[in-house]
Amino acid sequence: MSLQAASAAELRTAPPLTVLGDEEQMFRDAVRRFARERIAPHVRQMDEAAAFRKDLLREMFELGLMGIEIPEEFGGQGGTFFQSVIAIEALAAVDPSAAVIVDVQNTLVNNVLMRWASADQKRRYLPKLATDTVGSFCLSEAGSGSDAFALTTRARKDGHHFVLSGRKLWITNAAEAGIYLLFANANPEDGYRGITCFVIERDFPGFEVGKHEDKLGIRASSTCELILDECRVPAANVLGEVGKGYKIAIETLNEGRIGIGAQMTGLAQGALDHAVTYAKERRQFGKAIAEFQGVQFELAEMATQTEAARLLVYNAARLRDAGLPFLTEAAMAKYFAADIAETTASRSIEVLGGVGFTRDYPVEKLYRDAKIGRIYEGTTNMQKVTIAKQILAKP
Ligand SMILES: Cc1cc2nc3c(=O)[nH]c(=O)nc-3n(C[C@H](O)[C@H](O)[C@H](O)COP(=O)(O)OP(=O)(O)OC[C@H]3O[C@@H](n4cnc5c(N)ncnc54)[C@H](O)[C@@H]3O)c2cc1C
Repeated sequence: MSLQAASAAELRTAPPLTVLGDEEQMFRDAVRRFARERIAPHVRQMDEAAAFRKDLLREMFELGLMGIEIPEEFGGQGGTFFQSVIAIEALAAVDPSAAVIVDVQNTLVNNVLMRWASADQKRRYLPKLATDTVGSFCLSEAGSGSDAFALTTRARKDGHHFVLSGRKLWITNAAEAGIYLLFANANPEDGYRGITCFVIERDFPGFEVGKHEDKLGIRASSTCELILDECRVPAANVLGEVGKGYKIAIETLNEGRIGIGAQMTGLAQGALDHAVTYAKERRQFGKAIAEFQGVQFELAEMATQTEAARLLVYNAARLRDAGLPFLTEAAMAKYFAADIAETTASRSIEVLGGVGFTRDYPVEKLYRDAKIGRIYEGTTNMQKVTIAKQILAKP
């Protein structure tokens, strides 16, 4: 068979993007059930209290949701990146805060350790992350957001230790975490080539979790400041090489943004589901509002955009698992999914009318939660910078 004929044959048998394997299907069903039965009853209270319930966090560990890709020898599920994506999507349809906790743990923290940690670091940290310890990914600072490599946290070598000083801002999971992957510059004279990634344990001397942000959305997900005051970190806790932290940060965030795309797709699906249910129940002018073409067209557009976001996200995740380039696709997935999550949640509120605007129904929260999608893990503008750079670089 010629090469062309072979790839044509393969193409004919390639499964559609949204068709899941048996294991993926079972996994998604289990996560959906957990989200519906265990998380849903507490979503409103957790949003109001701005805190995620400890018992639910424990259950997420028990279900294997916090160590999806961690190999079984370290107590994880030995799953795929795609499985993380479907878990994040399923959780976000019910609670985007639960989704981001799982997202940061899997697509950032575990991901970095699996890819860059030494055998000793994997042995020390992966079993904890798979079973009972939350992790944080700590890059941003007050003066360095989109321009992440302008970070000013410093690391000074002192014998077998590094001494870290500075402050981190906006750190997801920081209130609950026991392990922090933190970026500091060990050689500022080398610019970004001095940036180094350290594994910090919560009880290291000189390390403190600071102010807890009071946010518009994803309120049950903690976002905190971190304070490093001459924090002593063993040199054995440098992840990868000194000066290679910039590479770890970039490459990890390229993958992580697929997870945020999944969170936003799940959120849009959740908003759409609420709108469909309500439209079939609510009666005006003697019939269900779902019978009005104006409402039907709204639902049709919301459904189409949600499906388009899902296809972008699934494709980027499948490319990543296949070891193929995915940079542009990941940026497109995050940018598009964040956009349509916001518009879908907004339209869902309108389908619900007045009650959609109240806290008695879940869609106003999804609308608030959606706003973060265009901001974290690279703003929408930064995704467009990436996409434009790639398409303009083509000959
Ligand atoms: C709830 C929440 C959770 C977060 N979690 C984490 C975390 O766990 N770990 C972590 O390290 N960080 C985290 N962050 C930080 C987040 O990644 C940054 O907020 C984000 O990267 C944007 O940085 P900034 O807030 O400094 O905005 P800025 O970089 O100041 O951007 C402000 C505006 O300017 C635009 N802009 C900036 N530069 C350009 C440019 N070159 N071209 C066009 N437009 C530009 C941006 O698009 C944006 O609209 C979190 C933030 C929030 C709000």
